Amino acid sequence: MRSLVRMIIGAAVFLFSPLLFAAVDGAAIAASDQGGEWRAYGRDYSEQRYSPLTQVTDKNAGQLKLDWYLDMPDSKALAATPLVVDGVMYFTASQSIVMAVDAITGSVLWRYDPQVLERLRDKKHMRFNWGTNRGLAFWKGRVYVGTFDGRLIALDAKSGKESWSVQTFDPKEPRYITGAPRVFKDMVLIGHGGAEAGAIRGYVTAYDTSTGKQKWRTWIVPGNPADGFESEALKQAATTWRGDWWIHGGGGTVWNSMTYDSEFDRVYLGTGNGAPWNQEIRSPGGGDNLFLCSVLALDASTGEYVWHYQTTPGENWDYNSAMDIVLAELDWKGQQRKVILHAPKNGFFYVIDRENGELLGAEKFGKVTWAERVDMKTGRPVETPEARLPDGVNALFPSFFGAHNWHAMSFSPQTGLAYIPYMEMAGEFDKQDIDRERWRARDFNFNSGFQPYRRDIAEKDASGALVGWDVKAQKIAWKVNLPGYWNGGTLATAGNLVFQGSSGGKFHAYRANTGLPLWSFDAGVGISAAPVSYSVNGQQYIAVLAGWAGGSYLGSTALARHGWDYGQQPRRLLVFSLQGDETPPPINPPAAELVIIDDKAQSIDEAQAIVGQDLYLDTCVGCHGFHVIAAGGAPDLRASGLAAKLEPFNQLLRSGVLQHRGMPRYDDLNDREIEQIYWFIRQRARESLIEQREQGE
Ligand code: CA
Repeated sequence: MRSLVRMIIGAAVFLFSPLLFAAVDGAAIAASDQGGEWRAYGRDYSEQRYSPLTQVTDKNAGQLKLDWYLDMPDSKALAATPLVVDGVMYFTASQSIVMAVDAITGSVLWRYDPQVLERLRDKKHMRFNWGTNRGLAFWKGRVYVGTFDGRLIALDAKSGKESWSVQTFDPKEPRYITGAPRVFKDMVLIGHGGAEAGAIRGYVTAYDTSTGKQKWRTWIVPGNPADGFESEALKQAATTWRGDWWIHGGGGTVWNSMTYDSEFDRVYLGTGNGAPWNQEIRSPGGGDNLFLCSVLALDASTGEYVWHYQTTPGENWDYNSAMDIVLAELDWKGQQRKVILHAPKNGFFYVIDRENGELLGAEKFGKVTWAERVDMKTGRPVETPEARLPDGVNALFPSFFGAHNWHAMSFSPQTGLAYIPYMEMAGEFDKQDIDRERWRARDFNFNSGFQPYRRDIAEKDASGALVGWDVKAQKIAWKVNLPGYWNGGTLATAGNLVFQGSSGGKFHAYRANTGLPLWSFDAGVGISAAPVSYSVNGQQYIAVLAGWAGGSYLGSTALARHGWDYGQQPRRLLVFSLQGDETPPPINPPAAELVIIDDKAQSIDEAQAIVGQDLYLDTCVGCHGFHVIAAGGAPDLRASGLAAKLEPFNQLLRSGVLQHRGMPRYDDLNDREIEQIYWFIRQRARESLIEQREQGE
């Protein structure tokens, strides 16, 4: 009965939509009071992810109940921040699929499938986490999505019908989109990733929201000087590069953070790492390599350079600055300042004056060994002696996964704390025996310019935490240690709450000022996405997509420990309220010990396995995991019957018979190379079986 009433209310709200839809413009997104809606990726233009709703508080959060849920049987990776406009929730599922559901009942209103997998057949994009998409933009009755194969698509919000579609890069290039577009002033802005996938040079493009016509495009790093520079800023930037950097692309992709500032009419871009990471290849002799790893402020109308602050000059470690750029206004040492809050991979929390780019503060929010501190006089990091690998190889904190990655940070003006999904682990950087003169990126292979990362990440070597960071005091206010790294994005609310999902599959509420755990729900699968809060008809809801995504599929013992097996744990949209009375759906418990296949009679060809490891790292690692330890992105090959015998394995790679499930056709590998990969998998299976037995004893 109750659900019937709800459906009717939901339908009534939906009928009124066209009138209200038109109202979602710049003023509507800029508003801090959004009438209970969540209109943009970071809620409003500040991207604070702070909901002013107060029905759910630290006093009653313990009574939160499941209100409704939606099973997502076609999905694997779920990373998106849902939008809620006029009683309808919009979000992206795997493969850039867009969904519109009734925000009260969860009934599906429409589903738009951009057919990414169809378009990617016989291409190699699938090696790069093709399933992940972080979200949408909403503007005047249309929803905007960037697809993995590089399209930017405008959909009618009411019907889900395509209004227009543009190709933002040549789909043959090793670029891809996983990030959410941003909208302002009748323009929609999109970037892309791919700085490891080939020799590319990053850019962002603004398109007209009604027609899809290009308004402006801004390149992030300079190209070949012989071709002329696109702007005076890039001409200046070129003086910070050495050698023939353009051969390697340079990098600087903008794959995640882009924040529009309606007060200064600017866009702040969080720019990417170098292509390749190893600066001795990319720019021999050093240099800052602008505008890599920077907050880059552009004029929103023209895309022209305004100012920049580079967090990692001379990038060498994949320490990109693509993490959230949060806008705030606060009392900074006695002065009211309009600031940017930014916690990029490199482990420092930056406070930057957004009027002029002046650095106000930079302190470590976790374990950092590549730099001692940031010199506030020069604004530059003081690198440690080991940072540039004087011995050729070194393990540094943070790893290339970063102290913080794309999992959204939130900021509560009420507590003055930023809530950071923190990761602590070392990454090994090895430049030994790299031939700088001959090194060239190969399209759709993993190109870092270092030796391939061959290690597993053991449970003891990696940890995660939710960090409550006191922005003004520039120190940790509280910290909740979590079992595992790669935890979800965060949401802060005016009810003195912070919400976060964990890699261990629990969805938590904490008291925002102290970090006290108040409530949790067993989602039955790792969570990467950030939650949102909204209200419809006076009821406050908390929503989160459960189904981990992104780099978790790179696998490791530390990630596999959670037991999220390929295809085993249902992916869902979960929505909670104080009045919820939905029975929690069944969950599949984490997998028990992996059943490894190993033919004892088979003798492993060790020499071929050594070559096979590097081929595996180039082609298979993105889904099947480092060290052949999968963490849910694809079957674990140590336990796969299809990888147990050479002939069927060869057939599988060549035929593309599993392309519909995302397994590419590897017709670029010859028989010998496939055999080498096969021997590496068999070797890893045997080693793992021995380890399992030793641990069992
Ligand atoms: Ca990167």
